[in-house]
Amino acid sequence: MKKLIVGNWKMFTTTAEAELLVERVDAKVLPTHGSEVVFCPPATALENVKAKLNTLKHKQSYSLGIQNIYDQDEGPFTGEISAAQVKDLVNYAIVGHSERRRIFAERDTEIAKKVAACLRHNITPILCVGETLAEREAGHSKRVVVDQLTVDLGYMTAQELENIVIAYEPVWAIGTGNFAKPDDVREMIGVIRGHIEELYGEIHGAHVRVLYGGSVEPENARSYTRIAGCDGLLVGGASINYIKFSEIINLSHR
Ligand code: PEP
Repeated sequence: MKKLIVGNWKMFTTTAEAELLVERVDAKVLPTHGSEVVFCPPATALENVKAKLNTLKHKQSYSLGIQNIYDQDEGPFTGEISAAQVKDLVNYAIVGHSERRRIFAERDTEIAKKVAACLRHNITPILCVGETLAEREAGHSKRVVVDQLTVDLGYMTAQELENIVIAYEPVWAIGTGNFAKPDDVREMIGVIRGHIEELYGEIHGAHVRVLYGGSVEPENARSYTRIAGCDGLLVGGASINYIKFSEIINLSHR
């Protein structure tokens, strides 16, 4: 299966910078890179980036994602964007990112509704789960991730599992340079697959796409993508550096 390499640009780049960034990544990506690449620019740049992607050499390997979505389709929700509104623009949506959980107090019950909203509109949610440092130090990593998954997937059927991506993103590794040890990532991906198996059956545990995210750089990317069961990467900081991101893409299929 192709690796999935997702770039979360967070609240960086103007629209002009966003267009330039995808152009520069494309110029450095090898024709043989072999991955599916999802760019998640700020919502303000989605339309322009989509148009730009269509002009690029490797356009067949690129998709577009939004960084967050509201759980309702329409209504008096000032400042929010619904899946219904972007369904023709994006294929993916990041849901439950730890920055949203921490800074915007998003709870798992809301995240479950966001996952459902994505699926209603044929958008693939990239569901982020992961423990904080305190939870890890207390020995609760597995329980935290299992509890998040149980609630976050509450409205999902087994058939819908092929339209979801789960990203294991330990909170302490995000934006810190303190990336997780590949052995720990292997173990946690096993926990995620094991829990999906318990909820939905063996086949689904094996087939659901699971990524790692947390301080991924060209120097460590390969140590994760070669883990059996790791289907790709969610990259934050390094994804707005075209040299680093294109290197990560080029390394990931090897
Ligand atoms: C992220 O934003 O999901 C992320 C993993 O960030 P970083 O790569 O900067 O740690």
